[in-house]
Amino acid sequence: MSSALYHRNEACRLCHGSRLEGVLSLTPTPPANACVGPERLSENQPRFPLDVAICIDCGHVQLVDVVDPSYLFSHYVYASGAAPVMVAHLEDYGRSVIRRLGLKPGDFIVEVGSNDGTFLRTFKMEGLKVLGIDPAQNIAAKANSEGIETLAEFFDLAVAQRVRESHGPAHIVVANHVFAHVNDMQGFVDGVRTLLGPDGVFVFEVGYLVDVFEKTTFDTIYHEHLDFHRVEPLRKFFAANGLEMFDVERSEIQGGSLRGFVGLPGAHPLAPALAELATHERKIGLDKPATLRRYAARIERAGMELTALLKGLKARGKTIAAYGLPAKATTLMYHFGIGQDLIEYVVDDAPLKVGLYSPGLHVPIVAASTLYEKRPDYVVVLAWNFADAIIRKHAAFTEGGGRFIVPLPNLAIH
Ligand SMILES: [Zn+2]
Repeated sequence: MSSALYHRNEACRLCHGSRLEGVLSLTPTPPANACVGPERLSENQPRFPLDVAICIDCGHVQLVDVVDPSYLFSHYVYASGAAPVMVAHLEDYGRSVIRRLGLKPGDFIVEVGSNDGTFLRTFKMEGLKVLGIDPAQNIAAKANSEGIETLAEFFDLAVAQRVRESHGPAHIVVANHVFAHVNDMQGFVDGVRTLLGPDGVFVFEVGYLVDVFEKTTFDTIYHEHLDFHRVEPLRKFFAANGLEMFDVERSEIQGGSLRGFVGLPGAHPLAPALAELATHERKIGLDKPATLRRYAARIERAGMELTALLKGLKARGKTIAAYGLPAKATTLMYHFGIGQDLIEYVVDDAPLKVGLYSPGLHVPIVAASTLYEKRPDYVVVLAWNFADAIIRKHAAFTEGGGRFIVPLPNLAIH
């Protein structure tokens, strides 16, 4: 473990309360996206604890182990423009925001964590003024070169003040799946409040704890995701910071997300969905530590089933590969104890990853065509949320006698 690159939060990220109760301890991992090239195979990559706690005061579920963001994100390889599913989602989402909030040409939208500018492009095409903010230098440069003005910085109060002075107040501030990456939530929310005009709306999408719980997507717990949000702790958090969450909705993206709409107090009517989702969260017990401990036990059982299956196949001389190396595969591989002793290589559809090695465990990443050259007997689908699409795309592999193993939500062989 490396101590200089990480610290442990002693207080709740949302309410600053100090009563954090541990509910789930996952196996320590390197950063989930930290693939390495062949020249770094001899390096022992630092691993960091991965412990989840619930705040007894506000009920917020969070990772207490925080890796230095400049270490985590400086060489982020993920570009949202690269994945067609994500591009389509962002376009639909952008159009729904334009309709729902009645945005018109000339309105000003700021996106925090804007990546390569894919989401902002929809707004720019509708004539809005757009500004992206993203700390990854290489990705911000790409966005700028493609005509999406982007500041290569971490968003905080000072940046918000500077943008308001140079560009004016924002009609919309957006943060998609970056909210949970921010350790300084206070600086973030102060920045949002500063940047919003009087009727301005902050729109965010975050991983939804209800989906993590109901679909057993525990592998979405990694160091880039510090929070597992639900409605009530968020509502209290915004209220305590001079803002009001006035509407919420669920979205299927990223394994299940919560989309929230936040404005200045009293500026927008409160939607019934707020109370509806909060009631459901209480009904399934997500405000109670005991519920989350039972969840931890369910994960342990799923891991034991999978490793027993793989070890049995290995003992019978079967060859095993894996499919897909999304960030969450790192959590799954470490927590379930699946390394090179059980899987020989991982195939991935992203050309950027081919030729690299998985974070820490250093399983080689190869092109999907390898499945037809090497013909492994079994392929574990690590990108299991895309299992249906992967199995459909590779019908020729199963017709040739190969089998896919889908580890979650229930272990299955196809
Ligand atoms: Zn709290």
